[in-house]
Amino acid sequence: MEAGVLALQGGFREHKTTLCSLGVSCREVRLPHQLEGLDSLIIPGGESTTIGNLASDYGFIDPLRDFACDNRPVWGTCAGAIFMSKTSDNGQPVLGLIDIVVERNAFGRQVDSFEADVDAAFPSSPGSENIHDGVGTSKFLGVFIRAPAITEVGPLVDVVGRLATGEVVAARERNLLATVFHPELTDDYRFHEYFLDMSAKRTAL
Ligand code: GLN
Repeated sequence: MEAGVLALQGGFREHKTTLCSLGVSCREVRLPHQLEGLDSLIIPGGESTTIGNLASDYGFIDPLRDFACDNRPVWGTCAGAIFMSKTSDNGQPVLGLIDIVVERNAFGRQVDSFEADVDAAFPSSPGSENIHDGVGTSKFLGVFIRAPAITEVGPLVDVVGRLATGEVVAARERNLLATVFHPELTDDYRFHEYFLDMSAKRTAL
């Protein structure tokens, strides 16, 4: 099983390091043809306008859409989640894959970045369907860096993480995962394991 990390801009090295720590072989993806043969792809955080513009300039938009439509897991963290979403507020290039609306920089500017516990509904959490009242969830320390908020989720989207104040910060629609915080910046590998499990289940189909 080989995972790719889109390496146009942002925190791709940190994701790579985590994947290596988990013993997963991974590849930096800088050109569309490097998507070939990958089982899954992570789109890192960074600056979503830059990632979108570079992806557009390098001819990535359709290949990334095809990759996701082939049911291969794609996970966007922070700027990556914005890039995967269906809407953008300033006309920046987005993939329009996962049915969420995001508001960029919703928690304030860079100096307002923070860490907070996320109530995360991993599939293994007993009663994880009760994410709305925090029952059956596990705590996961989220690092939020000039993070967007997920302000709307479509009917087919599962909420996978919320802040205690109720904001949706992680969402999944079939093979698509979006988190507005940065699991690659902590030593807690559960989100990466969750994502790799999505990939393993697809491969087993
Ligand atoms: N605020 C950034 C953006 O809108 C995202 C920040 C991040 O990825 N940590 O692109």
